[in-house]
Order: sequence, then structure tokens, then C-alpha cells
Amino acid sequence: MGDTSDKVAVVTGGSRGIGRAVSLLLAERGYRVCLSYVANETAAAEVLAAIEARGGRGVAVQCDVAEEKDVVALFEAANRLGRLAALVNNAGIVDVTCRVDAMSAQRLQRMMATNVIGSLLCTREAVRRMSTRHGGRGGAIVNLSSIAAKLGGAGQYVDYAASKGAIDSFTIGLAREVADEGIRVNAVSPGVIDTEIHASGGNPDRARALAPDIPMKRAGRPEEIAAPIAWLLSEEASYMTGTIIDAAGGR
Ligand code: NDP
Repeated sequence: MGDTSDKVAVVTGGSRGIGRAVSLLLAERGYRVCLSYVANETAAAEVLAAIEARGGRGVAVQCDVAEEKDVVALFEAANRLGRLAALVNNAGIVDVTCRVDAMSAQRLQRMMATNVIGSLLCTREAVRRMSTRHGGRGGAIVNLSSIAAKLGGAGQYVDYAASKGAIDSFTIGLAREVADEGIRVNAVSPGVIDTEIHASGGNPDRARALAPDIPMKRAGRPEEIAAPIAWLLSEEASYMTGTIIDAAGGR
């Protein structure tokens, strides 16, 4: 996997779910992990403690990815830890409660600000540090898409699906934009993964309830998404850029 000892990975939303699994795996692979949380300080502190208990280094930073000043501060914290080599744009929200005719403007703005603008702001900060054009030494970015980008979320969350469609477009476009600046950009597109994100619709068992619709007949585990993310960031994926990998149990 290559020497990662001087490398920093920023993982947004590293306090819970998929981001937690990614933070732990990247720390195990030798990255110093700068993980962000928005509200759940205790969960973030627990992830950091787990990293440190295994001899790793990291920092947990409060950051609403939709807020530019928070994102700038997040990357300043990453700078203090070492050389930025990886970004995982993982922070995201979903709300499975409504059809488009019931969506408030506030909900739509929050969805796009968090899932799309947040990822773009973090990416801007990362490119400014990684790009050989700015004197950087390159790096890799992985965005969290969703199979909802292709399935559409009809009747439940077309706004979320649209936000993830934007992530797919931006992954492909950015990959080409920075391909000769030492930066690779890819996305992982999970299916149903058993995390707390599903409780947003008021049904904490939603991930398990959807199992019959999944060819593998089960929801995925966060670790099963962390693994392809870590691989895409690694030197083993050195010729991979602009790809979107489904990890969805065949769905
Ligand atoms: P969780 O709800 O379990 O965790 C979300 C994480 O994002 C938390 O760490 C949370 O911080 C953080 N977060 C939420 N809002 C913000 C914000 N405004 N700024 C910064 N951080 C924020 O989600 P998952 O682990 O399930 O999802 C992670 C990603 O994977 C998302 O982008 C999601 O869309 C995507 N995905 C998930 C699927 C699934 O089935 N779980 C399927 C397809 C895609 P805090 O702990 O402080 O609240």
C-alpha cells in the first residue's frame, strides 16, 4: 500500500457510520487522520481515541462542511498534522420522508449545501494543497456518491438522488481537470449500508428492512465501503481516476 507515515487524510463526517470506518482503516494503513464531525463530539472523540490506542495519530475537528469558514479551519488543522495526501468527502445527509411536492426550500438548500457545496468546498481546499500546480506533491480524493444517483429516489428523496448525481458529475469533471496535477479523483457509490443515516426517516431499522430488495439479501457494513475507498486512495489504484465504483450487494 506504500509508505503513508507522513501523509494526512481528511475524512469529513468521520465520527460515525462509513466515515468512522474509513478513519479507522486509514489510520491502520498509516495515515494521520483529520476527521470532522458537525454535532457529535463524543462520537468523534471515541474514533480519535481508538486511533490513538492503536498507535496512530489524528485530530477531530468540528466542521459544518456547508460553512466556508469551518472548511478552511478544517484544512488548517490538517496542515498542522502534516502533508495532505487524501480527502474523503463523506459527510452527507438524507431525509427519506418526502415527495418533491412537500419539500421545503429550506430542506432543499440544506441538502445541496451539505452534500454538494460541502464536498466542493473541501475539494477546493484539498486541490490548493495537493496540486503540483500550487507546489503540492499530489494526492487522491474519494467522493461518497450513492446508487440513488442512478435509481432516482422516487417517492422518497429525489433531492438526495440529485445531490449524488451532482457528485458523480463533479467526480468525472474534476478528475479530468486535475489529472496532470498529481491528483486522482474517484467515487464510491454505496447501496444500503447499515448506519444511523437511515434513522432520519424515523425508521432506524430501514437498512435491514430493505434487505429483501438487495440481491445479496443484506445491508452492507460500513467496513465494506471503507475498503474500496482505502484502495482507491492507495498506490495500488495509481491509474484509476474519474471512476465511480458501485458497492451495493448487486443492487
Ligand atoms: P451517518 O449519518 O452515519 O454519518 C454522517 C456523518 O456525516 C456524521 O459523521 C455526521 O457528523 C456528518 N455530517 C452530517 N452533516 C454534516 C455537515 N453538515 N458537516 C459535516 N459533517 C456532517 O451517514 P453514513 O455513514 O451512512 O453516510 C456517509 C456518506 O455515505 C454520506 O455521504 C451518504 O450520503 C453516503 N451513503 C450512505 C449510504 C447508506 O446506506 N448508509 C448509501 C449511499 C451513500 P455528526 O456525527 O457530528 O452528526
